[in-house]
Amino acid sequence: MGTALTHKWCVGPINGAVDDSLLPAMNDFADEARSRVAHLLRMANTSDHQVRARLIEYADRTPEPPIMDQAGIVTTGCPRCRGTAWRRQDAEGPVWVCGSCGHVAEVTVRCPHCGVDMEPPPPGAPDRWCCPTCPRTAATGERARDIEERERRRLRAVALLGKAVARSRAEG
Ligand SMILES: [Zn+2]
Ligand SMILES: [Zn+2]
Repeated sequence: MGTALTHKWCVGPINGAVDDSLLPAMNDFADEARSRVAHLLRMANTSDHQVRARLIEYADRTPEPPIMDQAGIVTTGCPRCRGTAWRRQDAEGPVWVCGSCGHVAEVTVRCPHCGVDMEPPPPGAPDRWCCPTCPRTAATGERARDIEERERRRLRAVALLGKAVARSRAEG
């Protein structure tokens, strides 16, 4: 937090150029921008006027429209009021936005093996964080156990593939 992050995107480069493959995502982006307040209010699913007012205020306050996460809705407890915070994609990266008190916090995912913050997915990409120093990947809010289990499965798959290749070479 506070430091300038140089994101080494692991899912694809994000730069000024518009790549054809990004066009559907751009359309989603435009739709999301139009219906942003409506979407936030739908997620909040509340008739509480104060909550709705805070969400509208949040939408007005942040100039870049958050992109709807392809990974779906991810929530966590708000550290300030214990309300429900939704993960949103903001200009700076993924953030938690509390629907009750409007608290905004940076989303971080820590590599359980290296103890460093993982690189967030680029805007609009699936919820896949990558460790900058090891091959581990994670989804928001995953436990260390899940992350280590995925890495074990990956290593097992790599080992099986290696054996299969060795076998086919021996037979061929
Ligand atoms: Zn809160
Ligand atoms: Zn790591």
